[in-house]
Amino acid sequence: MYKIFAYMIVSLLFIGCSGQKSLEIKQQTIPTTMKQEEVKKADSKYKMFQTVDKKDAILVQDGKNKQYCVICGMDLIKFYKTSYSATYNEKEHQYCSLHCLSDHLGEGIELKNPKVVDVTTLKLIPVLEAYYVVGSKKKGTMSKVSKYAFSSLKAAEIFQSKYGGEIMDFYGALERAKEDFKHYR
Ligand SMILES: [Zn+2]
Repeated sequence: MYKIFAYMIVSLLFIGCSGQKSLEIKQQTIPTTMKQEEVKKADSKYKMFQTVDKKDAILVQDGKNKQYCVICGMDLIKFYKTSYSATYNEKEHQYCSLHCLSDHLGEGIELKNPKVVDVTTLKLIPVLEAYYVVGSKKKGTMSKVSKYAFSSLKAAEIFQSKYGGEIMDFYGALERAKEDFKHYR
């Protein structure tokens, strides 16, 4: 009697397990994985959101290092959507991120005509005309808190509704960037 009872339990466990297994397989074959891929494709054809086609990137520096951040040396096409330009000592400089621009400012220097890439048009716009989305789900460059700039409030709001974050002006975003440094007072 005990034997039969034990056998029943074992077989029940087995049925239970196999039932669960087939359910897992079913869930895996549901085309949600395809959907995720489609979403990824539509978002950006590159691994990182910041990257653009070479032909779309505006590079303002001269010389063989024109494609690289003047502070950290990272590729400006790869990190284009978070990049900046500014004039320092009569020379055009380009930065991969607000992090590197703040790093330069933290040395006590004066940067003229700072501009940021507008995520929508990929053109460089004056930083004071930009609407920033800070701390969205889209990863940032050189900082845990991402900071993306838009030339219109509407574009910033659409981005915010998709990826979250806070909308603020350049000074707000700069304050957040400074939090990554110790040499500011
Ligand atoms: Zn940099």
